[in-house]
Amino acid sequence: MTTLEQNLEKLSGYLARFREQGIPNRIGGEDRPAMSGATFDNHSPVDESFICTVARSGAADIDAAAQAARAAFPAWRDFGAENRKKILHRIADRIVARADEIAMAECWDTGQAFRFMSKAALRGAENFRFFGDRAPSARDGQALPSPTLMNITTRVPIGPVGIITPWNTPFMLSTWKIAPALAAGCTVVHKPAEFSPLTARILMEIAEEAGLPAGVWNLVNGFGEDAGKALTEHPAIRAIAFVGESKTGSMIMKQGADTLKRVHFELGGKNPVIVFDDADLDRALDAAIFMIYSLNGERCTSSSRLLVQETIADEFQKKLVERVNRIKVGHPLDPATEIGPLIHKTHFDKVTSYFDVARKDGATIAAGGEAVGGEGYFVKPTLFTGARADMRIAQEEIFGPVLTAITFKTEDEALDIANSVEYGLTGYVWTNDLTRALRFTDKLEAGMIWVNSENVRHLPTPFGGVKASGIGRDGGDWSFEFYMEQKHIGLATGRHHIPQLGK
Ligand code: NAD
Repeated sequence: MTTLEQNLEKLSGYLARFREQGIPNRIGGEDRPAMSGATFDNHSPVDESFICTVARSGAADIDAAAQAARAAFPAWRDFGAENRKKILHRIADRIVARADEIAMAECWDTGQAFRFMSKAALRGAENFRFFGDRAPSARDGQALPSPTLMNITTRVPIGPVGIITPWNTPFMLSTWKIAPALAAGCTVVHKPAEFSPLTARILMEIAEEAGLPAGVWNLVNGFGEDAGKALTEHPAIRAIAFVGESKTGSMIMKQGADTLKRVHFELGGKNPVIVFDDADLDRALDAAIFMIYSLNGERCTSSSRLLVQETIADEFQKKLVERVNRIKVGHPLDPATEIGPLIHKTHFDKVTSYFDVARKDGATIAAGGEAVGGEGYFVKPTLFTGARADMRIAQEEIFGPVLTAITFKTEDEALDIANSVEYGLTGYVWTNDLTRALRFTDKLEAGMIWVNSENVRHLPTPFGGVKASGIGRDGGDWSFEFYMEQKHIGLATGRHHIPQLGK
């Protein structure tokens, strides 16, 4: 295993070109600064040091990228699914070859620990392989014969699409959205998050090296309120795949209304992990800890609310406190680190503000509840106990390594508490009572539920949330449903009667 020092030396090599050249846009296969000439500075959350300048784009840059995506669309649509599959596999190969660079850049840009980011880079490669393999069947439809017609359905790519990604695990999430769009035959304009632009650029380079034709994938950097907004409003862009906050999703829906955008939203969450007293408590403990404290808690599917049955609550929470206090906070490139710094000062201020909220609302801070101090945006892994379901710490998405524990007496009470939030992304249920598991999961308001398991993503399954956690699903064939249009063709099978007017 490499040491922190070795990793830092490698990182310095990887970052040199960003420092020297900054990150321009990539439009139609060419590097271009923002047309206004504007840039913004990108800093690392680890020590607040300068990483590079980034193009700060506006509507004119988005327009150029959308025109490039529109021009590239017919050839890419007609390129042949087998050819698309080959390119997507070549992208995956190159991601694997540069996984170390991707993981380190991601750690430095986002503050995520290397142990998770090295896996996230490889997951990104898997996304390209998975959707590449499915490209040849993406157009498949159904035969629905009626008495006079052979009705067939087929799918065609919707056209140029806009993809807007957030700063948490930006590499993996970009691959998750872009791979199915390309496999479907769409062209792409990608606007990555302003807080973490490094790996979107590396991914774009990889795609072009793998033989992706110019203009099929365009990268435009900038802020949400200008570049992001312009992308959602552009008439050439047929659909917007968005991952981010619920309130941003709501804005995008309004912005896209005039051009009738199709949208797919993956939004926030306040996901419950519900532990009944008949569960395997050791495994439940491991999973609950992993699902909130890995990835710095900056994870949409994190189990940020622990609902624990009263009969076992004291013992369970005691063990939890011991474990939380032992979680290693440190430099993201230290292989031993489990939690790194939060992404940005703004987010750090938001997360730490909940420590006072918890105190004021009368919850107990059983672990953490303070910043680490010194440079960087490090906070101690935090556990609130004695919380009530109506407290802000139990209702609002904090998006940090912060867990709110609430006790319950009965299954009905657990369900009421679980469903009492505006979100509904995931739920985790721990019980050895099969009938209860079936009953409970049926009523739990969430798009994805795991029983006696942490979140284990299986790519063919649907991913998405209900309520304020999202609209639509992706994964497997669901991704193609979004990036493609269904087309019905009815072929007459004989000379059926056609009504004759004006005869
Ligand atoms: P955010 O909504 O602030 O930003 C996401 C992206 O949207 C960024 O690229 C940003 O520039 C852009 N944006 C902002 N305003 C815009 C506008 N008016 N028009 C167009 N684009 C705009 O989210 P964030 O803080 O970067 O990410 C964290 C959030 O993402 C959390 O709420 C988290 O739960 C959510 N998330 C959800 C999933 C999921 O699958 N459900 C996955 C990851 C993250």
